[in-house]
Amino acid sequence: MSIVSELLFEARAAAQSLAALATGPHIRLGVTGLSRAGKTVFITALIEQLTKAASPALYGRRNNLPVFRVHAEGRLIGATLEPQPDDAVPRFAYEDHIAALAGPKGNAGARHWPQSTRRISELRLRLHFDQKTGMRPGRQSLAIDIVDYPGEWLLDLPLLGKSFAQWSRETFIASASAARTPLAAQWRRATANVDPRGSASEEEARREAQLFTNYLRACRADEYHFSSLPPGRFLMPGDLEGSPALTFAPLAVEEGETYPPDSFAAMMERRYEAYKTHVVKPFFRDHFSRLDRQIVLVDALAALNAGPAAMRDLETALTDVLAAFRAGRSNILSTLFRPKIDKILFVATKADHLHHTSHDRLEAILRHLTAKAIARVETVGAEVDVIALAAVRATREAKVGGPDEPALEAVIGRPLEGEHIGGETFDGNSEAAIYPGELPRDPEAVFRDEPRSLTPTEIDYRFVRFRPPVPVRSPNGTLLPPPHIRLDRALQFLFGDRLG
Ligand code: GDP
Repeated sequence: MSIVSELLFEARAAAQSLAALATGPHIRLGVTGLSRAGKTVFITALIEQLTKAASPALYGRRNNLPVFRVHAEGRLIGATLEPQPDDAVPRFAYEDHIAALAGPKGNAGARHWPQSTRRISELRLRLHFDQKTGMRPGRQSLAIDIVDYPGEWLLDLPLLGKSFAQWSRETFIASASAARTPLAAQWRRATANVDPRGSASEEEARREAQLFTNYLRACRADEYHFSSLPPGRFLMPGDLEGSPALTFAPLAVEEGETYPPDSFAAMMERRYEAYKTHVVKPFFRDHFSRLDRQIVLVDALAALNAGPAAMRDLETALTDVLAAFRAGRSNILSTLFRPKIDKILFVATKADHLHHTSHDRLEAILRHLTAKAIARVETVGAEVDVIALAAVRATREAKVGGPDEPALEAVIGRPLEGEHIGGETFDGNSEAAIYPGELPRDPEAVFRDEPRSLTPTEIDYRFVRFRPPVPVRSPNGTLLPPPHIRLDRALQFLFGDRLG
């Protein structure tokens, strides 16, 4: 960073601190996770629960958030949406998302899951509450800026410390693992014919970038569900969709070797460096470095469905995510961009796909996964917790089985149209009882290629996607917040200490 941009950075940070003073008590919460992890659904449900928790429409009903202390103690007065502080960042489209979940124009039959996160967005929520402790008992408020951004972008941080040659070498090595080799074959065959010293060609650059992106997309597909696939914008381009900034790909170049300025290798290297300077750094400087707290959503069930290779890859991705929060000062870039995060919550989403007897096991698997990742990046310098939850619960539970069979702990819901299990394909309207299988008792087992120590029911898990639950309204027509699993635990961890 030059002295000028460092000064600008300092000036901006000072301006932000002044703005924070004007706002009063304030938390900037980052919500991230890889594509389809459940960010949009989580934020939508969080806002819906908080804005309606103290609503008269819910009086007399069971407390929906028993673990969220400020509410359980009757001190939550309400929550309101406010204009967000950053004019240059799109607003999180909460109203559209809740309308999707409830069914457009009140037509519950047309309800559907909202449009997933594709770029950064933001929303400000203000909680009003009675403070019971501290210097100023009485009515208080806490502003919460929720910043939703693709986890793929976080995985780009390590690129800042890597040369083009180093990144290329590592990308080729990763693509040669047993599981990825078939997916990378077409791109690697084409790259083998490229002469790095040949003259720079836009056409070739586009072809290489396209084949490389196809490889990354194939790795991301449900049946493989790999997580660690930088550069993040190739899969989640945000506003850079179709931009020349993304027209590069790894090349077999030697580290320390120089290539003529008009060669293909030099062109690819320039674009890689431009990606770091104009895409990666601004994101970390302008958004990431300003976060106070972070929630990382993980679709562990999709990785479990795909198998041990996907689980090991998820662990690598979480290690990279945690490296972004690392307390160590060894890396000047991480010092500049590292936010002063004091809490990180890892969440295994979509727990409603499992019977509650497996929720603790799902949590144990994620805890194991993050403990391994934390051990690799030394300390992260923040309080870390792990929760398995469903922001929106689309199932209920039942025991199924014939008179002569042992009863199985199943979940009942409406599988999405086209989902299938054991030869049956669902139409999206009928309810079905699904036996998702039990997660293994030993979290380590899900990383092993041959889980020998498991019973057959333990390894036989299979998850299907469900439609959102049928919306429920109060007698005066107010849409009630959807059912959830353990969302209140997440609220307590993230905000509880500031609402005492
Ligand atoms: P994003 O890419 O991280 O924003 O992911 P979304 O929030 O859009 O979630 C992706 C998909 O996961 C949704 O379309 C739903 O099918 C599913 N999903 C997310 N959260 C839940 C949940 O709490 N329960 C259930 N049953 N499905 C969920």
